[in-house]
Amino acid sequence: MDVRPFAKTNAILPRIGQGTWEFPEAGARLREAMDALRRGIALGMNHIDTAEMYGAGRVEEIVGDALAGLKRSDVFLTSKVLPSNASFKKTIAACERSLRRLRTDYLDLYLLHWPGSLPISETMAAMEQLVDDGKVRFVGVSNFDVEELEEARTALRRAPLVCNQVLYHLRERGIEERLLPFCKTRDIAVVAYTPFGRGRFASTAAHADGVLEKVADRHGKTVRQVILNFLTRDPNVFTIPKAAHIAHVEENAGAAGWELNADDVRRIDEAFPIIYRGALATL
Ligand code: NAP
Repeated sequence: MDVRPFAKTNAILPRIGQGTWEFPEAGARLREAMDALRRGIALGMNHIDTAEMYGAGRVEEIVGDALAGLKRSDVFLTSKVLPSNASFKKTIAACERSLRRLRTDYLDLYLLHWPGSLPISETMAAMEQLVDDGKVRFVGVSNFDVEELEEARTALRRAPLVCNQVLYHLRERGIEERLLPFCKTRDIAVVAYTPFGRGRFASTAAHADGVLEKVADRHGKTVRQVILNFLTRDPNVFTIPKAAHIAHVEENAGAAGWELNADDVRRIDEAFPIIYRGALATL
């Protein structure tokens, strides 16, 4: 698995990590999903993304179970606070609840899940308090556009803003226009979520004249591996596909360790042009 420096931190993260939204919560599907998560970690996909929102806390508990027995420092663990909990006091309390559910004493990265109505200065002050207390290593946000990002960045006094986690897939490339260049100049890592567009994957793969299949064949890779590789072609971009099956995790791990050439990128670019929609994310 290729690894890359994570913005202005001393952390080195895998190009491809693992998401956990809508992770199975019970039965045989849960057991397989936990094995899949661990298999992914063994393959180097040790950047695990979760949130207090997922399964109303249940997914954090499951991630905590899946990580039990692993060395904590071998995993880079991200969670997120809901905007409705993002006052100073509630952010601290939400983080402490996440730590309990995850059965760890620190998060590697803590994000505000999306911009809310509470003052960003309050949330960022709480984030810095959590860093001072050793409960969080790095601070970030999610679903922030340029202006919101600049507000969050300047609200921080002692800790840098290191990450913006945003929607990014072949049919949703709007971030490439303003947000991605902005993040690069400010040394903010971009973590791309929903890289397969969830339910939109089939239409993505089908309606582009077989371009993805042709590129995949040329490299001896699969279409999904081509997609993940394309989305992370910029070294400032990481991605976190969610997969609850071992075979899916293994396929996703194979998206790293090789590069598309300029001709592949041009063809994919033409087949999936950037359509800027103005707004950032559908959550
Ligand atoms: P996604 O990763 O684009 O798609 C997940 C779907 O793709 C699942 O149905 C999964 O199936 C399937 N899949 C994955 N790898 C596959 C493979 N190799 N072959 C076939 N199917 C495969 O969607 P997502 O879950 O929305 O996004 C990824 C993560 O980003 C989330 O889990 C979450 O951690 C994060 N996220 C963050 C936000 C935010 O607001 N910050 C919003 C959305 C998502 P199986 O599960 O059955 O394997």
